[in-house]
Amino acid sequence: MPYIIDGKKISAEIKDELKQEVARLKERGITPCLAVIQVGEDPASTVYVNNKQKACAYIGMESRACRLAETVTEQELLELIDSLNKDDSVHGILVQLPVPGHIDEKRVIDAISPQKDVDGFHPQSVGALSIGEQGFVSCTPAGIIQLLKRSHIEISGKECVVVGRSNIVGKPMAMLLLRENGTVTVCHSRTRNLKEVCRRADILVAAIGKPRFFDESYVKEGAVVIDVGIHRDEHNKLCGDVDFDRVAGHVSAITPVPGGVGPMTIAMLMNNCVEAAQGNIVDE
Ligand code: NDP
Repeated sequence: MPYIIDGKKISAEIKDELKQEVARLKERGITPCLAVIQVGEDPASTVYVNNKQKACAYIGMESRACRLAETVTEQELLELIDSLNKDDSVHGILVQLPVPGHIDEKRVIDAISPQKDVDGFHPQSVGALSIGEQGFVSCTPAGIIQLLKRSHIEISGKECVVVGRSNIVGKPMAMLLLRENGTVTVCHSRTRNLKEVCRRADILVAAIGKPRFFDESYVKEGAVVIDVGIHRDEHNKLCGDVDFDRVAGHVSAITPVPGGVGPMTIAMLMNNCVEAAQGNIVDE
């Protein structure tokens, strides 16, 4: 059996470390605070927002929920972001995506101060990542690096294949693996010979949003497989982009779904918030 990379356990460890860091910050008079803006009442978004608030409470951070009506204008939303940017008691700001169609998502992301951009979606954060400067990193790929490191999986020098090139997963994942000295290939829907490319991977990151797409024919014997996908199958069971049962017998390590990458995203969001609050300390 392969080593099962336990995202639940690793994310719990990270949250416990953050809890201690928050206690230290509080002793110095700083209570990290995340403002979460939700527009409308999409039930899935409500669940995500509630989970983020629960995680804040667990590590001792404050959270401020800003719930806006579906009909809010773009201008009103931008004004709220502006006031949160200027509010020194707020360290991180995130807007739960997607926003309704009448609001320009890009304008919203651009409006968040890069110092408070704990989702890592602002162009300045993305640019900083690509030129090796400090900035917030998108939480899911940052969480995957933590999964690998804390499972003692070497990245340096390894063939890393990332399948998917979205702005929030695939592209930052590739940049992070490169930063860790991996040899990185990025695949997408136009990639020819996808199987062949995937079979070169020592570390394969599957992030295409297609349930159980990757079977054993896509993996090299002994590879490490990271499954970012999250879906409900026809029996309402959670599954990933990887067919776990078919792949598990061929790999050295693999993330399960659920309990792999998923829990890491919130843990890294909390990590970014704490870092944002630490940025307020100027005497160190
Ligand atoms: P997107 O839909 O934004 O991007 C999918 C990417 O996969 C695109 O680059 C697309 O290529 C590529 N792709 C689609 N089909 C194929 C194919 N047959 N062969 C090769 N490449 C293909 O998805 P996201 O990056 O946002 O998310 C990916 C998955 O990860 C989803 O299942 C999502 O639910 C999950 N997810 C999980 C998170 C977590 O916390 N666990 C967080 C974020 C996402 P092209 O660019 O050419 O169209």
